[in-house]
Amino acid sequence: MDLVSRRNRGGAAVPSGGNGGEAVGAVLVCGGGVAGIQASIDLSAAGFRVYLIEQGPAVGGGMARLDKTFPTGDCATCIISPKLVECMRDHNIDTYTMADVVKLEGEAGNFKASVRQRPRYVDIDRCTACGQCGQICQYGAIISIKENVLTFEQLCHSCGGCFRVCPDDALRQKSLEIGTIESGKAGEIDFVSGRLNVGHVRTPTLIKEVKKHIRPETLTIIDVPPGTSCPVVEAIKGTDFVLLVTEPTPFGLNDLKLAVELVRELNLPFAVVINRDDIGDAQVEAYCLAQRIEIAFRLSDDRRVAVAYSSGQMVVNILDDYKKQFHSVLCYLERTKTELRETRR
Ligand code: SF4
Ligand code: SF4
Repeated sequence: MDLVSRRNRGGAAVPSGGNGGEAVGAVLVCGGGVAGIQASIDLSAAGFRVYLIEQGPAVGGGMARLDKTFPTGDCATCIISPKLVECMRDHNIDTYTMADVVKLEGEAGNFKASVRQRPRYVDIDRCTACGQCGQICQYGAIISIKENVLTFEQLCHSCGGCFRVCPDDALRQKSLEIGTIESGKAGEIDFVSGRLNVGHVRTPTLIKEVKKHIRPETLTIIDVPPGTSCPVVEAIKGTDFVLLVTEPTPFGLNDLKLAVELVRELNLPFAVVINRDDIGDAQVEAYCLAQRIEIAFRLSDDRRVAVAYSSGQMVVNILDDYKKQFHSVLCYLERTKTELRETRR
C-alpha cells in the first residue's frame, strides 16, 4: 500500500515543508495505542489528513487490556472507549491494523511511506460493513464502526456467532494456543485435565477439546465448575446424567434452582447430592421434594475431610467410611448409566 497516492484527500491544511519541498498536509501516526489515537484525533482537529498505522489486529493498545489505571484508579475502558469511537468515526482518519511501515522516503513535509498490511480476520475486500457481526457478539470481541471492523481476540469466546451471521463470508479463522491438555493415570483411573493459559477466556473451547478424550465404553466423570455459566453448559452438554452437588443453605438453594433450570432446559436427567447435610436448614430438601427431584446422596460436615485435603491426601484412601460412601456413589452412577442406555434402545 502506497500512502502517497491518498494524500490530502480531506482538504487538510498544508504545513510548510522542512526543506522547502511540497508539503502534503497528511500525517502518518505509528502505533494505535491511546497516545497514537489521541495524536490522530488532535491532528485531524488541526486539519491534517491522518493515517493511523497499528501493527496489532486492533487499536487500543495496552490500555484496552487494563481494568483500572494508576494512580487515580479510573476505569481504563471509560477512558479509551470514547477516544476509540471518536477516532473511528472521524472521516479524516484512516486506520490500518495488522500493518507495518516497511519503507520511508522523502523529507520533512513530504514523506512517502510504504505500508505492508498482513492478512487479518476480516477480509476487507468482502466486508460490506453491515455490522451484523458486532450486533451478535455478546462479548464486545468484534465491533463495526464506520467502514472498519475491529476485532479484540482476547475477548473472543469462539462461539462462532459472527461467522454464522456474516452474509459476505468476510471473516477468517486463525488457530490460537489457549491452553494445554494434560493426561495421566491413578491406578485404574485415567485422568484428563485442561489448563487454560492466563489471560484467555475460551474455557468452553478447551472443555470441548478435553471432552474429545471421552471413551464411550467407560464411565467418565466430568468435574464441572460451580454456577450456570458457559463452561458449565459446555461441560454437561451431551452427558448421560448430571449430579448436582449443593449445600443446605439459602445460597445453596439459590444456585440449585438455577442449575435445575439449566439441566431441565438441556433435557438432561439429574439427581441431587447434599454436601454438609448436617448444617443449614431444610429448604433444599423441601424444594427437592416439591419438585420431585431425587436426593441421591448426603455427605456430612466432617472435619476429618478438611484435615485430609489440607494434608494433600485422598479421603477415600485414609477414611474407610468414605471409601464405602464413594463406592456406593460409583455403583449408583454405573447403574444409572446402564438403565439410561437400556431405556434409549
Ligand atoms: S466468535 Fe463469538 S465471541 Fe468471538 S468475535 Fe465472533 S461472535 Fe464474538
Ligand atoms: S458481518 Fe461480515 S460483512 Fe458484516 S460487518 Fe461483519 S465482517 Fe463485515
